[in-house]
Amino acid sequence: MRAGQWLLDLLYPRKCPFCGRVLERGETGWCARCPEELPWTEPGDGKTVEGCDACLSPLWYRDGVRKGVRRYKFGGGKSHAALFGQLMAQCLQDRGTGRADLITWAPLHPQRKRERGYDQAELLARRVGELSGLPVAGTLEKARATAVQSQAGEDGARRDNVRGAYRALPGAELAGKRVVLVDDVATSGATLAECAAALQGAGAAAVTGLTFARAR
Ligand SMILES: [Zn+2]
Repeated sequence: MRAGQWLLDLLYPRKCPFCGRVLERGETGWCARCPEELPWTEPGDGKTVEGCDACLSPLWYRDGVRKGVRRYKFGGGKSHAALFGQLMAQCLQDRGTGRADLITWAPLHPQRKRERGYDQAELLARRVGELSGLPVAGTLEKARATAVQSQAGEDGARRDNVRGAYRALPGAELAGKRVVLVDDVATSGATLAECAAALQGAGAAAVTGLTFARAR
């Protein structure tokens, strides 16, 4: 964490990541109003992603959720991982398709992680692991820098953009494992599909996608 951000967090009340309101006493992570107003998905709204037996997300990627994700990724809002990961862990518990052995994530390219100071998917994965009691391990690497997915255009272009970009880390213990694959947002599902292919190529028995939000 940058020292400046740490100081700001200390000196100023935190804001709700979704609506931007300053949190009042007794409000933790988000304001009291947003839980009622956010676009929650229904259990049947899971996205179909190639290579994943399911793709679960608690929220639709629109309105305040979109703003919240931007604040988290681009506004230095690292602390929002605690709440976002909690909502994901709850979604996994409620809608998960069965036993899981391991939680992993779709990693940033090392250069982008250095620029941002953290890997937003990794923080979410670690929070989900903390709450679910499942082990968390980095098993993938992004071997090639790609254009930002949100700027890559239509679904076909997004898939081309990430094709072959991810590979399993040497020594990652994936054989026979049922893996929960975490990312922040599923838009086309291309990133999750590429990661799932790399995990299965290294022996994973099954992959369940878990993202904070998903596009329609
Ligand atoms: Zn709010």
